[in-house]
Amino acid sequence: MKIAIAGTGYVGLVTAACLAELGNDLICVDIDEEKISKLNTDIMPIYEPGLQELVVRNKNEKRLSFTTDLKGAIIKSEIIFICVGTPPKENGEADLSYVDNVARTIADVMDSYKLVVEKSTVPVQTGEKVAKTIKAYNKHNVDFDVVSNPEFLREGSAVEDFMKPDRIVVGCESENAKKLMEKLYAPLKSPILFTDIKSAEIIKHASNSFLATKISFINAIANICEAAGADVEKVAEGMGLDKRIGRFFLNAGTGYGGFCFPKDAEAFIRIAEKLGYDFKLLKATQETNQQQKMHLVKKIEKALWVVKNKTIGVLGLAFKPNTDDMRFAPSIDIIEALQKEGAKIKAYDPQAVEKARQVLKNIEYCSNPYDAAKDADTLVILTEWNEFRHLDFKKLKSIMKHNLIIDGRNIYNPDEMRKQGFSYISIGRSDV
Ligand code: NAD
Repeated sequence: MKIAIAGTGYVGLVTAACLAELGNDLICVDIDEEKISKLNTDIMPIYEPGLQELVVRNKNEKRLSFTTDLKGAIIKSEIIFICVGTPPKENGEADLSYVDNVARTIADVMDSYKLVVEKSTVPVQTGEKVAKTIKAYNKHNVDFDVVSNPEFLREGSAVEDFMKPDRIVVGCESENAKKLMEKLYAPLKSPILFTDIKSAEIIKHASNSFLATKISFINAIANICEAAGADVEKVAEGMGLDKRIGRFFLNAGTGYGGFCFPKDAEAFIRIAEKLGYDFKLLKATQETNQQQKMHLVKKIEKALWVVKNKTIGVLGLAFKPNTDDMRFAPSIDIIEALQKEGAKIKAYDPQAVEKARQVLKNIEYCSNPYDAAKDADTLVILTEWNEFRHLDFKKLKSIMKHNLIIDGRNIYNPDEMRKQGFSYISIGRSDV
C-alpha cells in the first residue's frame, strides 16, 4: 500500500519504518529540513533501540523515503497518517494547529480517494473537525475517509511495541476505510478493536490517564510507607499479584514525565472541562506527580542539610530508560530546584546528554557514571538505565566525597547498599 506519513518524530518515524518493513511503500514527511537531511544520510534524529537498522534496510530496499514535500507525498499516496505533534498550549489544551495544517494541505492537493489516519493524540471530536476541514477545503471534490488510530507505543521499546501491540484501535465510520485498515494491519496478527471515531480518541486519553493515575497512586502509597516504616516494593508486589490490579506501572519513583502522560492528562482535564465534567481524579493525579518530584528534592535537602555549594552527581536525565527524550523529564524540575539552592550539578545519561544540553544549563555533563560521581557529596539516580544497576561500588566509594546515594527509582536493594557501606535513601522504603 502507498502511504505518506506527516510528521517524522518518535511516532511517525517508527510507524513508517515498521509499515515499510511489512512491505508497504512509505514516504516520510517533515517540515524540519535538518531532520530530513539527517535521515537521508542514515543519521537517526532520535535514539530508539532497533530503529536505525529498520530505517536503513527499508530505505536501501526503496520502500522508505524522506522528504519535506508534503504535497507531493499526499498525491502519491492512498493512506496519509497524521503523526505531527500536539503540544500543550499554555492552558494545557492540545495545540491542534499542526494537525489543522496537514488537514488543509491534504484537502488542497488530493486528486483521488485518500484515507486520512489520525495517529497523533488528539482531543475527542478532532476526527470530526479534521473531516469538516478537509471537506471545506476539498479543491477537487474527491472522496476521502478519516479514521482515528491512536498509537500506544512506548519510547524505549517503540519498534517492538509497534510490531507486537496488545491491541490496535481503529475508530472508523466507513466500510472502505475499515477494509483498508484491516488489510494494513493484517500482517501484525494482533487484535483490532473497531469503534466509532470519538470512542477511539477517548481510548487513547483514557489509557494514558489511567496509567498516570496508577503511577501517582503507588507514589502516594510510597509516601505512606515512608511515614509508617513499610516497604513500598513489597506493597506493590502484594497488590500486583491480584490479577485485577497487576504489577505493571506500580513502580514508586520520582514521578512520570515524557511527551505523553503529563500533557495528555492535562489535555484530558481540559477536554472534560469543556464537556462539562470536572475531572477531579485526574487533577489529583497530576498534582501528586508534581509533589513527587519535589519530594525527592526535599529528601536531597534533608540528607545534605545545606545544599548550597554541594556537588550532586546525577545519573539519568531522560524521562525513562532507553530513550534520549527529555520532554517533560522529571530531571528538569528536580535539577532546576537544586540549582536554585546553589547546588553544583554533574550529570551523566547514556543517550540524552545532547538533548539535555538544550534544556538544562550550567551543568557539568560527564561521559560516564564515575565522572559524575567524582567528588560528589551525593549521587542521585533519576532514570533507571540498566547500566546503573551494576556500578562498581568500591570505585564509587573511593571517588565520592561522601558515600551517599539517593535513588529516585529504587534500583538498588537497601540491604546490599548497607553491605557496600553506603548511606542509601530511596522511595517508599526505610533509609539505610
Ligand atoms: P515529535 O515532536 O517527535 O514529532 C512530530 C513531528 O511533526 C516533528 O518532527 C515536526 O517537525 C513534525 N511536523 C509538524 N508539523 C508538520 C507538518 N505540517 N508536516 C510535516 N511534519 C510536521 O512528536 P511525537 O513524539 O512523535 O508525537 C506525535 C504525536 O503522537 C503526538 O500527538 C503525541 O502525543 C502522540 N504520541 C506520542 C508517543 C510518544 O511516545 N512519543 C506515543 C503515542 C502517541
